[in-house]
Amino acid sequence: MTNENCIFCKIAKGEIPAKIEYQDEDIIAFHDITPQAPLHLLVIPKTHIASANEINSENSRFLSKIFETIPKLTKSFGVNEKGYRVVNNCGDHGGQTVHHIHFHVLGGRHLAWPPG
Ligand code: AMP
Ligand code: ZN
Repeated sequence: MTNENCIFCKIAKGEIPAKIEYQDEDIIAFHDITPQAPLHLLVIPKTHIASANEINSENSRFLSKIFETIPKLTKSFGVNEKGYRVVNNCGDHGGQTVHHIHFHVLGGRHLAWPPG
């Protein structure tokens, strides 16, 4: 399923460019256009899921695949040992600006907590 006005669906379909690090039939990982850390990837399902609120038993396998892939990606960038952060922003209060579920993978520097 795709949403024709969705920028991440367009990246998933190759209609707009992105610096892609990994993709398969279900998911794609690419660099955030405004990186907040030395490593800042976005990992998304290719199918349009608007937010974490839309995860269900029909589509949760994409989330499993995303979380299987993240440690492989972070290992390839050499940040596993020192650590990294995986973030999902959901909805207005969560700070979500692109309404296609995505997981930020941030690494390469010490990240403060709590978030603002
Ligand atoms: P969020 O605020 O959690 O919805 O995050 C959306 C993220 O998408 C932001 O970090 C943006 O910098 C990033 N972003 C928006 N458009 C693009 C794009 N065309 N390519 C890569 N990253 C993008
Ligand atoms: Zn989409």
